[in-house]
Amino acid sequence: MAGHTKSIERLQTELAKLPGIGARSAERLAFHLLKAGAEEALALADAIRDVKASVRPCSVCHNLAEGELCDICADDRRDKGVICVVEQPKDLLSLEATGEFHGVFHVLMGQIAPLEGSEPEDLTIDEMIARIRAGGVREIIMATNPTVAGDATALHIIDRMKEFPAVKITRLARGLPSGGSIEYSNVSILSDALKERREI
Ligand SMILES: [Zn+2]
Repeated sequence: MAGHTKSIERLQTELAKLPGIGARSAERLAFHLLKAGAEEALALADAIRDVKASVRPCSVCHNLAEGELCDICADDRRDKGVICVVEQPKDLLSLEATGEFHGVFHVLMGQIAPLEGSEPEDLTIDEMIARIRAGGVREIIMATNPTVAGDATALHIIDRMKEFPAVKITRLARGLPSGGSIEYSNVSILSDALKERREI
């Protein structure tokens, strides 16, 4: 990177912090932005600024939202009695892509992994329990990832659910490869996993 101006170096340094972008790609992107018209380059800067200023967690389910509620919680046609519990907003998007699910979600914002410093209280489990206490929930679908940490997270939540014997707990069918992830599963596998979910 030597030889470039200070501000080009700064842009490259920032770009190289993005996942999957090495030093060479960062340099290529930086020069692309330098060549691009001011309008195009600044549109990217504006989009970044805008997303950081306006996107925040949904006050109900912790999905990404641009207001108090996310699009799903704000939709009257969604069945608020069925809550699908996922680890991350990306998992929610994958399940939404199936078009099979008409309930609502709860995003845990992580998984229980004590060795990595992630304890149950770091997740939104208390908020989920409060949601169920408020009433009207008939079913909880556990859709954590089929990994050791995902399973530990599901078991912890199932234990907390003893407080609500009337609420059915189901789990995505084991069509997902063990150790795989919801985020990278294809639509038909996820669709089957939802349709064939089993009661625990
Ligand atoms: Zn929401």
